[in-house]
Amino acid sequence: MKTADFIALEDQFGAHNYHPLDVVIQRAEGCWVWDVEGNKYLDMLAAYSAVNQGHCHPRLVRVMQEQIPQLTLTSRAFRNDKLGPFYQYVTELTGFEKFLPMNTGAEAVETAIKAARKWAYTVKGVAEDRAEILVFTNNFHGRTTTIVGFSTEDQYKDGFGPFTPGFRVLEYGDADAVAAAMNENVAAILIEPIQGEGGIIIPPDGYLKHLRTQCDEHNALLIMDEIQSGLGRTGKMFAYEHEGIRPDIVIVGKALSGGFYPVSGILADDPVMGVFHPGDHGSTYGGNPVAAAVAMEALQILVEDQLVDRSAELGAYALDRLERCGSPYIKELRGRGLWIGVELHESAGGARQFCEALQHLGVLCKETHEHVIRIAPPLNISKEDLDWGLDHIEDVLTRDWSAKTETPEAAIVA
Ligand SMILES: *Cc1c(COP(=O)(O)O)cnc(C)c1O
Repeated sequence: MKTADFIALEDQFGAHNYHPLDVVIQRAEGCWVWDVEGNKYLDMLAAYSAVNQGHCHPRLVRVMQEQIPQLTLTSRAFRNDKLGPFYQYVTELTGFEKFLPMNTGAEAVETAIKAARKWAYTVKGVAEDRAEILVFTNNFHGRTTTIVGFSTEDQYKDGFGPFTPGFRVLEYGDADAVAAAMNENVAAILIEPIQGEGGIIIPPDGYLKHLRTQCDEHNALLIMDEIQSGLGRTGKMFAYEHEGIRPDIVIVGKALSGGFYPVSGILADDPVMGVFHPGDHGSTYGGNPVAAAVAMEALQILVEDQLVDRSAELGAYALDRLERCGSPYIKELRGRGLWIGVELHESAGGARQFCEALQHLGVLCKETHEHVIRIAPPLNISKEDLDWGLDHIEDVLTRDWSAKTETPEAAIVA
């Protein structure tokens, strides 16, 4: 079967809830992937930062191969021998007292929301059903009905109401709005320290610190959604470290399993995690032994291969290169670590066609929103491979497309 045949199958038998690039990937290694025709591509998206450790990392392959014939699922009705050691490792590594495992990112966000509400009622003393959680414009926290209910993206909500009450949306980056919104019913502030889906939006310096102060003054929890920004992506283990603060709840997912398995969860100290009692919350697969084994190894790889420092170094290098490339299409460049948003002028005609042009040159990137190219390769990409990818990115960003044909994509194909 060829590329078109696989695409036809997806179109005929699958729900059309995505608009992927038309590349059908068959295998991968490190930061490289191969399609069904044998074409090779550099992966500059890394599954939205789920494969920070690179594709098919041999250590993760080995852990899966060892664990799967041993034991895969007990449910939490019984215990398993991988969960305890993983809890110990992840809490010691991150400096939080407790971990609560889930599977997908959205479930971990739901878990944080439940923790914050229960904390508000049982610890803070908020009146029944009055707890409020402050969230922000342009947020992305997943796709459940509760979460899309406080999205500011019309399409994410359209047709999915009615929505869960108890959320108030504030302007991302506006410190005064937060100070004005705080009141005795506020249970928590839920925020991405850098907005990934929003287009790599970095809040003003001091903003996260301001949120920390507001939460301290008004006895509210600060919840950081680090599902995409965490685990090395921004050049720190967690993006909140850039401001030297410590949240009350950290939400993790994506790279927690290096792309092998859905593993997510929340980190918190005892006063918050202690609100959960047997029966309050759970998940059949949450904390299963495969998840625990693979997550522990995935974290160890980040630490032992010093991927956090690599992200900082290579990210600064890549941002500097792009800043000097002199592209007429770039409106703004934003980056922290190996996480760069290239925002194009509206006159450039949209980021999608640049991504499609890059695909034909062997580089996989994905647009986010209409005008931003997101660059987020695996953190263990070599300098040579990164340079190769940047060469092509700079190429498509500096060619004069108007002279040749109507779109960058058409020109490359021609
Ligand atoms: C990806 C993402 C989620 C949702 O994770 P899923 O595993 O897709 O449910 C939530 N928050 C942020 C910041 C994300 O990037």
